Amino acid sequence: MNVELEQYILRSDEIVQNIELDRSTADELNVEHDAMIRLLSNVLEHLMENKKYINMQRINTADTIDDKFIKSLHPHVTTSDHIERAVDGVLYWVTDISQFLIKIGATYLRGNIGNIYTKHMINDNVVNLVKCRAGNQCKNVWAMRRCKFFHDPLELKQLLSSKAITHAFYTEQVSAPKNFINTSWLYDPYGTKNKKYNHIRSIGTRSTALGDINAIKSMGAISTVFDIEDFKYQVMHDILLLLLLERS
Ligand SMILES: [Zn+2]
Repeated sequence: MNVELEQYILRSDEIVQNIELDRSTADELNVEHDAMIRLLSNVLEHLMENKKYINMQRINTADTIDDKFIKSLHPHVTTSDHIERAVDGVLYWVTDISQFLIKIGATYLRGNIGNIYTKHMINDNVVNLVKCRAGNQCKNVWAMRRCKFFHDPLELKQLLSSKAITHAFYTEQVSAPKNFINTSWLYDPYGTKNKKYNHIRSIGTRSTALGDINAIKSMGAISTVFDIEDFKYQVMHDILLLLLLERS
């Protein structure tokens, strides 16, 4: 322990002794003692934040998911022009949008394995956590500046086709996958009422699922009440993770 920290302990002991000797000094010395606690708490909080950052660095420097991973899953390769013709239950890699695809009946799941962030890990370098509300009207995209919000590659491809954006910019924008906040996997039946966590599962439990889904449908378009697109990306993330876990 360094000298400064020892001084805090000595001063704290001194304060206790002084108060025992003369109770009338208690208020004043309490203020000093509280100030010391606040200062040290701030230092500790700072160290804890750094610890989280170091942990995050560990995650980022681990093996990343790349072409090797894609090949290891042996997906069928296609392009977004042929998505409609996908066969049920077959895993595809859609080259031009850099996403995996699985069709299950009328449902098309697209996506990748993304990064999962806690609230404390989010900083200016974190992209694609939420969908860009502006969609293809996004000013960043039109100016060909990397937008930090997620843009669906299928939508962006329309701008590419109309030559509003270059292929180089399109590739840059779609190169990073959809990412997530950890609470997206948290089930809370009261989630819709909890403003602290926007991304939370408020439906899904068997006993009330059908009623919850009907309630959402009666409120209007599902996407405005429940972010079904983000939910699909979460499901795809989990399917790919499972395949990664179980691949031989
Ligand atoms: Zn945008």
